[in-house]
Amino acid sequence: MTETARLYHGDPYLRRFEATVLSIDGNEVTLDRTAFYPEGGGQVGDTGALGGVRVADTRIRDGRVVHILKEAPGFEVGGSVECEIDWERRHRIMRLHSAAHIMEHFLYRELGELRRLGSRVDENKDRADYAYEGRLPADALRRAEDAANRFMAEDHEVTIRLDPSRPGIRIWSCGGIEMPCGGTHVRGTGEIGAIGLRRRNPGRGVERVETALAGC
Ligand SMILES: [Zn+2]
Repeated sequence: MTETARLYHGDPYLRRFEATVLSIDGNEVTLDRTAFYPEGGGQVGDTGALGGVRVADTRIRDGRVVHILKEAPGFEVGGSVECEIDWERRHRIMRLHSAAHIMEHFLYRELGELRRLGSRVDENKDRADYAYEGRLPADALRRAEDAANRFMAEDHEVTIRLDPSRPGIRIWSCGGIEMPCGGTHVRGTGEIGAIGLRRRNPGRGVERVETALAGC
């Protein structure tokens, strides 16, 4: 089966492209190339339109990028379609995803490294869950927020490279901070603006840090 070329790795700012339809199964479509990010690594799937039909979600199924449309499309397999992702939404996701990595770096600087149990970033906020007994101290959270905001205001460049020792793994780096990540990110922290952090308690032994864009 033909692989879908994942254009979002080479250019996370690509929002419009043309592609050939590889398969249609009801309202699920695969393409020879796509800029739609499929849900994974804690980042939600992209929305947008293929040939004028709404894309409600994008997911990986059996290793393939599947565009889930609102309705069965009128276009056909082998045809060419104009594709566009919801850029405003995706750009907010990119800002929040980059911000979440920076938040975590400064949170760990305050509290030591924590075990991250899960994370999810959408266009409204990033939620990161950590194994933690008791409450995350409010003053440590404020200091992490201040440090992250100061760091982001310095407009550090974000780069992503393949890990030479682990095939398919991408390393995100920014101003000396590094972590593995396959998501989409802004080019520089100046694009993020300021963030606000708040703590939640989703259950015993778990503390959540929510990252939101300031003024949104
Ligand atoms: Zn990430």
